Amino acid sequence: MTPVNEKNEFDLMRERLTVTPRLVWDHVDEAERRAIMDYAERYKNFLDLAKTEREAVKVIESRARERGFVPLEGSPAGSPWLYNYKGKTIALGVPGRRPLTEGLRIVGAHIDSPRLDLKQHPLYEDTDLVFLKTHYYGGIKKYQWLARPLALHGVVLKADGSTVEFRVGEDDADPVFTVLDLLPHLARKVQMDKKVTEAFEGEKLNVLVGSLPIGDKDTKERFKLSLLKFFEDTFGLTEEDLISAELEVVPAGPARDVGWDRSMVAAYGHDDRSCAYPALEAILDVQDPEYACVALFYDKEEVGSDGNTSARSCILEDMVELFLEREGGSPQARRRVLMNSHAISGDVTGALDPDWPEVHEKRNAARLGYGVSLTKFTGHGGKYSANDAHAEYIAWLRKIFNEAGVIWQATHLGKVDEGGGGTIAKHLAVHGMEIIDSGPPVLSMHSPFEVASKADLYMVLKAYRTFFLAPGG
Ligand SMILES: [Zn+2]
Repeated sequence: MTPVNEKNEFDLMRERLTVTPRLVWDHVDEAERRAIMDYAERYKNFLDLAKTEREAVKVIESRARERGFVPLEGSPAGSPWLYNYKGKTIALGVPGRRPLTEGLRIVGAHIDSPRLDLKQHPLYEDTDLVFLKTHYYGGIKKYQWLARPLALHGVVLKADGSTVEFRVGEDDADPVFTVLDLLPHLARKVQMDKKVTEAFEGEKLNVLVGSLPIGDKDTKERFKLSLLKFFEDTFGLTEEDLISAELEVVPAGPARDVGWDRSMVAAYGHDDRSCAYPALEAILDVQDPEYACVALFYDKEEVGSDGNTSARSCILEDMVELFLEREGGSPQARRRVLMNSHAISGDVTGALDPDWPEVHEKRNAARLGYGVSLTKFTGHGGKYSANDAHAEYIAWLRKIFNEAGVIWQATHLGKVDEGGGGTIAKHLAVHGMEIIDSGPPVLSMHSPFEVASKADLYMVLKAYRTFFLAPGG
């Protein structure tokens, strides 16, 4: 008879033969538990400093420069480099011991997030209130942006070429802005009885910014004029300057710990700073790697990677050519470099939400706390528009992650035909490299207050570090 606590042959068989999801908290020692909590503090700081792609590029560039990274063009062979493209996309690289033609180790993430962008004629007054017109950017649920504190970040370019930078609504002393919502008492017909997609209109996402008049009751548009006077006095701006501007309305306030146990972080922009930041930390720490390592921080992922700062642009090829030339190689070899490369597309995935089990398929859904995801394919119905990572590549990643104690989970977004999504993976895959999506699971994804587990966030860092330095593949 088997004693109660002893494993019988079937327990041992099960351990040997089945996939058992591993909860990170059960598999880390005291030191690593501390590392998880410490990392979350550094990450929250980054979230607060880098809410827009422009801010993220600035922070990434300054951290890289502090660590001796120099601009790729004109720098000596062998030095760690940075490549800043239009202040919206940036790459960091560290040369390796092997020739570049044997391939790079690439971690690519994106630094744009869903938000409300101002239109080019944003300012108007109505009913003695002043508003800004917006056009939303990326996949949002519009109602999540109503009746909450909002901040304004971005740049205004004056005709003389000088720039005024905005970051209003983050400091305790700052005012905030808001999009109004209708009182429930009057919302029955126009909101409550409608489908959600019809109840909240993009054209009603107008941001309230003032209500103080100038002049007297005979002054035309005196509420709007009052604000323009404030812009002129404070920033030297005119209404026409707002045409050459990129002003982004984002949720106001810092990243916060969630839960009595502080095991989670909620913030705007986990998608995709939860991958961009660990890519940054990992590349800054890379020393004398076997293969050259590159971290890519892209703009425009949330709108399908179009435009010249996106993953579909020729930035990557140009950068590889410059890198080859600098290291004494031929720029013509760029195709071979990219085809021999190994890459991780760092992006978040939707975590299993216990209130909405009907959209998930629980055997394959990502679970909060079970480590960094490996998502073989994204896309939608019938794997359309998906990068589908090769089994050989997954086998190698499994091996290096297991050997390094990276806790990971194989995941699939939602039930078949429930919906879907894309990442930068397929745009990088066209260059021939091996690539897979890998990042943390997130709850309330694409909302103004996304939730991630500190344990998963840390495992993403550990995964990227392992990937940069692992041999072979
Ligand atoms: Zn993303």
